[in-house]
Amino acid sequence: MNPQTFPTAEAARLHEDSAGNAVSSLNEEAWRLQYQDPTRSQELAEAARALAVSRDDAMGCHYADLTLAFFAIRYGRFEEGVARLRELLLLAPVQADERARMIALCGQAIVESRFNRQDQAYALALEAADLAERVGRLFDQFVVYNTLGVASFETGRNVDGLRYLYRTLDVARQDGSPSSLAIILSNLGSTQHELGNYEDAKQLLLEAMAVVSNHRLENYMQLVAGNLAASLLISGDPEGAYDIIRPFLSQKRQITSGGDYAFFEAIAAHTFASRGDWELATDYIENAQIHAEAAHEVRVGVHCWWVKGLILRGLGQLAASLEALQMAESKLVGLQDLYYACQVMRETAETYALIGDWQQAYRYHRRHHELYEQHLGNTSRARLQTLQIQNELIEAKRERDFARLKQAEAERAQRELEALNDELKHKVEQIERLQNALREQVIRDPLTDLYNRRYLHDELFNELKLAERRFYTLCVVLMDVDHFKSVNDRFGHPAGDKVLMALAHLLRENIRGSDFASRYGGEEFCIVMADISVEQAVGRVNKLLGGFRDATLTLDGLALGGLTFSAGVAGFPHHGRDSESLLQAADAALYRAKAGGRNRIEVAP
Ligand code: GH3
Ligand code: MG
Ligand code: MG
Repeated sequence: MNPQTFPTAEAARLHEDSAGNAVSSLNEEAWRLQYQDPTRSQELAEAARALAVSRDDAMGCHYADLTLAFFAIRYGRFEEGVARLRELLLLAPVQADERARMIALCGQAIVESRFNRQDQAYALALEAADLAERVGRLFDQFVVYNTLGVASFETGRNVDGLRYLYRTLDVARQDGSPSSLAIILSNLGSTQHELGNYEDAKQLLLEAMAVVSNHRLENYMQLVAGNLAASLLISGDPEGAYDIIRPFLSQKRQITSGGDYAFFEAIAAHTFASRGDWELATDYIENAQIHAEAAHEVRVGVHCWWVKGLILRGLGQLAASLEALQMAESKLVGLQDLYYACQVMRETAETYALIGDWQQAYRYHRRHHELYEQHLGNTSRARLQTLQIQNELIEAKRERDFARLKQAEAERAQRELEALNDELKHKVEQIERLQNALREQVIRDPLTDLYNRRYLHDELFNELKLAERRFYTLCVVLMDVDHFKSVNDRFGHPAGDKVLMALAHLLRENIRGSDFASRYGGEEFCIVMADISVEQAVGRVNKLLGGFRDATLTLDGLALGGLTFSAGVAGFPHHGRDSESLLQAADAALYRAKAGGRNRIEVAP
């Protein structure tokens, strides 16, 4: 497989579609399920990849690799994840496919953030968000905005960070995936917590807790419980915190991401420390540290050293406590995190006080105080900003709902219009059919279905005009059934009707397409023959007469045959130049045929 064979975005997209939906729908589901059902998500991505390889579907393969790279990063297999992403981002099709590029950039941003290269993480996430705005589906936007929100905080852009995280929350609410909602609620809750906005933090975390328990999101229960417990600990409620985390302590490890589990363990340790249970606290903090280190979770690492400092102090090991707190302080460098900085400064000051180093204690108290004032400023800004963002989101939702309503209305109106149109079309067709039937009724004779006399007059007029313009001869033939009265008398009127119908049929079947036959009167018929000499016309009528004579009709078991007619032929322009004179001439000829013994054809003199 050579991915370089798809040099343009268009070609790549065409290929994706023509490769069959199977690969792309497998990829889509794998990508969407990455938080909700990580195991299945990975299986689907592997399946998509295998199918894509077998179909030589380069783009399908790249999308599968993107999802797999995200898992590698999540589970701390950074080298694998980074390698996959770097390779993917160098490929022309991924460069050309904006959505694939967006996902790859977002994955790289997550990696950069894990390695504490926050400026790079922010730049990459910003580029991904730009793409997500245009080409991202709701779930893509969830992933990208969440990453950008976190990266914004890491680079000290608190206001932007809040805005992106609330936007992520908005997208998650629209997308309707409970796991996405739980993740962002919990994320936003812990962010508000770190901003010192404990009120909003608690609300968000309580909602997160409700979502995870209502939807039984086992994978996220520990994470959310950890965040909520952290919020309770800071508001001086270690018993409340303990109640929240207790159900998850005895369970085996639930959280799939190492970093998240490290955080839970740190909070558990913190809770035990706050309750004076130093043994369990020590147990948990040691595991938390191992997991945080492995997951490159710098912030959780700071949390661990802080809590370790608390525990050691509780155990009376003041020098070791100080060392732990100094580790926390050193890890804070470049992290732009006032929350942890405040906590660490305060605890360090207190430990120095216990040691009796009043100078250092005072120094750290002052630093704590300065940072706390900054933090307080951030907190009030965060509260104000949150209110504003929430109002903006309400407004945006209102606009969205309104647009959706308008759209639905427009679609309904469109459908109604289409229905009305159909109905109208149907009516018009009905009317046209009726009009046609009426027109036919007006020009046709109901018994024989031949044209009637009125039509003959109109049409003969037109035919004569045409003949005059084109200089050809036109013949009018008048025919009258011989002794027809006796047919009626002997066999009855209905039998007479059948004879008339049979003759009409004979005429219709045996005249040329350019001729037309009509019923002139009771048992009288008229044929108009265009562009034909009188002799030829007589010849044709003779054939008709032969056919009529030879025909046998069966009427109620009786065979009726040997019927004849007499005919008179007149030609334009020799015997008349208008319909009246022509018909008169033909009638005179017919009279002569009758007088001459019937069963014959006479030409006008
Ligand atoms: P000939 O023309 O040879 O002189 O004799 P004829 O018996 O045909 O005489 P005539 O033309 O006078 O008679 C026409 C008869 O055709 C009279 C009428 O009862 C009959 N007739 C006219 N219209 C119809 C019809 O629609 N159905 C039937 N069954 N008979 C009709
Ligand atoms: Mg007659
Ligand atoms: Mg007759």
